[in-house]
Amino acid sequence: MSYKIVASQCTGCSACEPVCPNVAIYEKDGIFVINPKKCTECIGYFDEAQCEAVCPVDATCVIDTAQPRYQARV
Ligand code: SF4
Ligand code: SF4
Repeated sequence: MSYKIVASQCTGCSACEPVCPNVAIYEKDGIFVINPKKCTECIGYFDEAQCEAVCPVDATCVIDTAQPRYQARV
């Protein structure tokens, strides 16, 4: 799976954008969005999702259960 940003809760503070190791987060119309094709859930980089860790709004960077599970390359 990837993470997603709950659009209705995002304040557009941009804190998440620079911490993503996969450059998966981008701004669109004043709020931020995660490209699920690039998001690895931070697997391979960090023990916790960096966007979720820095986001000041609770439950805004969350797992997107509509996406297939991320598979780390071995
Ligand atoms: S979980 Fe990690 S890889 Fe995915 S968008 Fe957040 S910071 Fe980027
Ligand atoms: S850190 Fe949270 S509130 Fe700030 S832009 Fe990212 S998702 Fe939105």
